[in-house]
Amino acid sequence: MGKIAINIVTGSIQQEEIIVGIDLGTTNSLIAIVRTDTHEPIALKETDGLALVPSIVHFDDFGNVTVGNPAKELLIAEAERTIYSVKRLMGKSYKDVGKDAGFFAYNIIDDGTDALVKIQVGDRFFSPIELSSYILKELKKRAEHILKVSISKAVITVPAYFNDAQRQATRDAGRLAGLDVLRIINEPTAASLAYGLGTKHHEEKTIAVYDLGGGTFDISILTLSNGIFEVLSTNGDTYLGGDDMDNVIVRYWQDQLGVTDTELHNFKSLAQQFRIRAEQAKVHLSDNEVYEGLIDDQAVSLTREKFNELIQPLVNRTITACQNSLNDAGLKALQIDAVVMVGGSTRVPLVKECVKNFFGRDVYDRLNPDEVVALGAAVQADILAGNNTEMLLLDVTPLSLGIETMGGLMDVLIPRNSKIPNKAGRQYTTQKDGQSSMRISVYQGERDLVQDNRKLAEFNLTGIPGMPAGLPKVDVTFLIDADGILKVSATEIRSGVAQSIDVKPQYGLTDEEVENMLLDSLTHAKDDIKTRALVEATTEAQQMLDTTEKFLSKHRDFLTDDEVALTWEHMNKLSEAINAKDKDRIHNETEILNDVSRPYAERVMDAALKDAMKGKKVI
Ligand code: AMP
Repeated sequence: MGKIAINIVTGSIQQEEIIVGIDLGTTNSLIAIVRTDTHEPIALKETDGLALVPSIVHFDDFGNVTVGNPAKELLIAEAERTIYSVKRLMGKSYKDVGKDAGFFAYNIIDDGTDALVKIQVGDRFFSPIELSSYILKELKKRAEHILKVSISKAVITVPAYFNDAQRQATRDAGRLAGLDVLRIINEPTAASLAYGLGTKHHEEKTIAVYDLGGGTFDISILTLSNGIFEVLSTNGDTYLGGDDMDNVIVRYWQDQLGVTDTELHNFKSLAQQFRIRAEQAKVHLSDNEVYEGLIDDQAVSLTREKFNELIQPLVNRTITACQNSLNDAGLKALQIDAVVMVGGSTRVPLVKECVKNFFGRDVYDRLNPDEVVALGAAVQADILAGNNTEMLLLDVTPLSLGIETMGGLMDVLIPRNSKIPNKAGRQYTTQKDGQSSMRISVYQGERDLVQDNRKLAEFNLTGIPGMPAGLPKVDVTFLIDADGILKVSATEIRSGVAQSIDVKPQYGLTDEEVENMLLDSLTHAKDDIKTRALVEATTEAQQMLDTTEKFLSKHRDFLTDDEVALTWEHMNKLSEAINAKDKDRIHNETEILNDVSRPYAERVMDAALKDAMKGKKVI
C-alpha cells in the first residue's frame, strides 16, 4: 500500500519522495528543498521561523542528546559536554588537528597515532562522523516534521578544499543518520547553482564565491562550462569571520569601560554579555548608522563609521586572500564574470563594498547569504530527482575509461562525456588453457593503444579454476559513483571468484592535460585506426595458430599425412604474415588456414557428437 502525504509547505499532495539539500556548516546547518509548485528552492523553517540549526550537540549524564538551539544555550555552562565546530574535525587525525586542538573547549583524544580523532564526553567517546550524524538526524527529523513525508535521500555540501577523507566522512555521517547521500557537492558550486548559474546550456563563466561566515572565510574561484563546475583555486582563513568582528567590538568597549581581560575571564556572565551586545551591535549596524545598548547597566554605543574602522584590518585580510586565490588561478580580478556572496557576515556593508571594489563589479547578494548554499544543494537534489529536465546534469566523464585487452588495445567501457553516475560492463575470457589469473588494467584516454593512455589502476583476478582457454566468463564492471569515484570489479561467473578496486579517475589531471589527451587522440586518429586493425588481425591470427596447433597434437589420428603437411605449410605462412605486420596478408592467410582445417575439424566434431549421443535419447 502506498502512502500519500500532504506537503504543508506547498499544500500539495506528495507522493514522490523528496530529495533534500543540506548545508552541514561549521556554525549552523540547514535543510532546503525545491518547491514542487513554484520550482523555487526554499529553506525549511519550523514554526518559529528559524531555518538555521546551530551545529551544536549536547550530551547529558543520562545519554540524552540535544542538537541545535537548546544545545547552544548550554555551550558555556556545560562546555565539556557541548560539542561545536565538529566540521573542523571531520576526516582528521589528531596529528592533523595538532595545535588547533586548543580552540576546542571539549576534550579531543590524542592517542598519538594517525588514527582519526575522537571526542570524549564523560565516559563516552564519539567520532566527528557520529557527532555530525546527530546534526543530520536533527535536520532530517525537522524536514520530516515540516513536510510530513519521510526523508531518506540527500545532497550534502562540503567546502571545496575538503579532501577525500573529509568527503567520505561526511558521506558516512549521512549514512549513519539514515540518509542515502546521493551526492556531495562543493559549497561554492551550490551557491552558484542557487543563483541559477550553471543551469543553462553553453554557459561559460568564471565565478568567485566569497564566503565569510561566523568563524571561517573561504574564497573559491570556479569555472563553469556547459554545466560543469571546476574549482580553479581556493584560499581563505579557517579562523576568520564574524566572531572576530564581535571580538574587536568587545575589545573597543572593554577599553571604553575600563574592563580588563582578567575581569572578563573571571566573570563569565559579564564576558557573555559583552559578546552578545557586540554581535547585536554588528548586526544592527548592517542596517543602521548607530547602535546604543547596555552592558551591566552601563551604556555602550558604536557608530557604523567606528565599526568600519575597527573591522577594516579583518576585511583587508579577506581581500588579500582573494588576490592570492586569483593569482593561483592565473586570473585578474576583471576576468571574473560573477561574484557570489555567501555567509552571514557578508551582510556587513563594508564587506560588500570592499568586495565590489576589489572585483570591480556588482555582487550576487539577492538571496539570504545564510541559506544560499543549502538552496543550491536543493537545486542539485531536484536535478538528481529528475524534476528539472531543463537543467544539465552536472558531471560527465572528461575522458573515456576502459581496460587493456589482448595486444595492448584499449577496450572502452565508459566513453568520454558519459553522465555520472554511470555503470557499464562487458564479458571477457582467458587466452590460455588453465589460465588461473587475469590481469585487469584500467586506463583513461582516447587512444586505441593503452600505451598511449593513462593507466589508473591494475589488479589481478586470481583463483580462476583451470579451464580450457575461452571457457571462463569474466564479467568486468565499471561503476562511477556520483562523486566521480570509479569502482572496477571482475567476477568469474562459473566459479564466482571476484576482485574489485576503487579508482579516482580524475585524480591529478589538470584541465590542460585532459585537453591535451583529447587533442592527441584527434591528431593520431588515422594511425590509431590502422594500428588497431593490425592488432586485431594479429590477435585473431595468433589464436587461430594456437588452436590449430593444439588440434594437430590432440587429433593427429583423424588426419592424413598430406593434411598435416598442408596445415603446417599454411601455419608457417600465417606466422610470416604476422611477423611482416601486414594486415591484409594476415587476414588472407588466416582465411586460408581456416579453409584448410575446416574439413577435418568437422570430421572430428561429427565423431565426438556420435560418441556423445551413444545410449542417449533426444527430447
Ligand atoms: P554563518 O556562519 O554563515 O551562519 O554566519 C554567521 C555570522 O554572520 C555570525 O558571525 C553572525 O553574527 C553574522 N551575521 C548574521 N547576520 C548579520 C548581519 N545582519 N550583519 C552582520 N553580520 C551578521
